[in-house]
Amino acid sequence: MEKREQLYEGKAKKVFATEDPEALIVSYKDDATAFNGLKKGTIAGKGIINNRMSNLLMQKLERLGIPTHFIRELSDRETLVKKVEIIPLEVIVRNIAAGSFAKNYGVEEGIVFAAPTIEFSYKNDALGDPLLNEYHALALGLATKEEIETIKKYAFAANAALKDIWKLCGVTLVDFKLEFGRTADGTVVLADEISPDTSRLWDSETKEKLDKDRFRRDLGGVEEAYQEIMRRLKENL
Ligand code: ADP
Ligand code: UDP
Repeated sequence: MEKREQLYEGKAKKVFATEDPEALIVSYKDDATAFNGLKKGTIAGKGIINNRMSNLLMQKLERLGIPTHFIRELSDRETLVKKVEIIPLEVIVRNIAAGSFAKNYGVEEGIVFAAPTIEFSYKNDALGDPLLNEYHALALGLATKEEIETIKKYAFAANAALKDIWKLCGVTLVDFKLEFGRTADGTVVLADEISPDTSRLWDSETKEKLDKDRFRRDLGGVEEAYQEIMRRLKENL
């Protein structure tokens, strides 16, 4: 598949057009940002790990009946995906309190929920990705009621599947962010990525963080954590 003009450069990936108007090439970078772009850095080898990991996980979800944008891995950093119109919602599923949930609601990190939670943020960097509810999303015309129902169904199904996969790896899935989009025929599919950049992953025994929080919080051993989580996934998938 021929790579044509660059359409977009984001914080972690570049997006290219292809000869197929319904397909894009996504190229994963080693760049890392946190706190809405305020903190910047690089995590050597991250792009290669996130590309591979996201593709392995999306293929697994696809087999379980969750449609995704994944078409084919092209190289260690590049993947061919279905072009979608991104629904501007960050869909966050949580199993355990951490990050902004712990902060906003004044609870300790690590509290295990009786059932998973879901929340939406408006994907809008200028506004700082504000939290919103389903009615807000409808009012803003971001998605239809049916699309929101579909998104919730897929997000919880993805959580159940990913929790099981990570459990086999000795890892607890704390929370993660998903993005969805509409393909040319209007089908809602899982897009963007599933990686340690977009998930909180804790060693089940030691609770050691094996995700981007090592970068956000300057915990050190960032590259090693990405390598370790990838090694465990490859061994157990
Ligand atoms: P950001 O835009 O937040 O800086 P990235 O650096 O990851 O994020 O850039 C990738 C961009 O591509 C994101 O805006 C994401 O919503 C978008 N994207 C992901 N998958 C697809 C797809 N299948 N079709 C179109 N856009 C996509
Ligand atoms: N997340 C993400 N992109 C964002 C915000 C959050 O991928 O722009 C992921 C984050 O990695 C974590 C989950 O979503 O796995 C929940 O993040 P939280 O709301 O706690 O925000 P944070 O603590 O990152 O500000």
